[in-house]
Amino acid sequence: MSGIRRILFATGNEGKMREIRSILADTGAEVLSMKEAGISIDIVEDGTSFEENALIKARAVAAAWKEPESVVLADDSGLVIDALGGEPGIYSARYMGENTSYDKKNANLIERLEGISDEKRSASFVCAIAAVLPDGREFTVQDAIEGRIGYEQKGEGGFGYDPIFYVPEFKKTTAEMTAEEKNRVSHRGKALEHMKEVLRENEGFDCK
Ligand code: IMP
Repeated sequence: MSGIRRILFATGNEGKMREIRSILADTGAEVLSMKEAGISIDIVEDGTSFEENALIKARAVAAAWKEPESVVLADDSGLVIDALGGEPGIYSARYMGENTSYDKKNANLIERLEGISDEKRSASFVCAIAAVLPDGREFTVQDAIEGRIGYEQKGEGGFGYDPIFYVPEFKKTTAEMTAEEKNRVSHRGKALEHMKEVLRENEGFDCK
């Protein structure tokens, strides 16, 4: 079996890319961002679930990147707040507009939960990952991490909604965790580990 030598991860988000590189390092495959692969396409994420959106991205990039012994991966992730009926959900990146700072988005969500007690502040980060192989085979996985929305923004690490996502077992937000801690327990960390297993079983990695 030839196995996978190169992984193209379909994201333009640098924060995500950092986490992904570290989690995929042990595959021995070369990990490329869209920018590094020289691919710039506009993808309309009009799916109705995380998995659908991840597949839409992976398929669009795979159509533009024809490489043997490779795989295109894409994720779709977001914050699901139970007390807000699952908002911002699949619209997490677009919530209040793509160009609004996360400082403002986070402050707004805290405000919307004003007066809501600890146990009703439950939330999860969800991550779906889709893979498309050069022969057209497709795989998807989805994982989550459970937590609560905090009362103030805390921590400097991570990105996006991390400063308001409090994880009771750690007694800190995902922005207060080290990168290693977050990758071990996060939605993206778990989903990528899961996807690595699926790819290992179905295709294998060509570790030098
Ligand atoms: P996507 O790039 O369409 O998957 O959008 C995901 C959005 O969800 C990001 O832009 C963040 O707003 C949010 N998000 C997903 N994962 C995380 C995380 O690990 N920490 C903080 N925010 C996240």
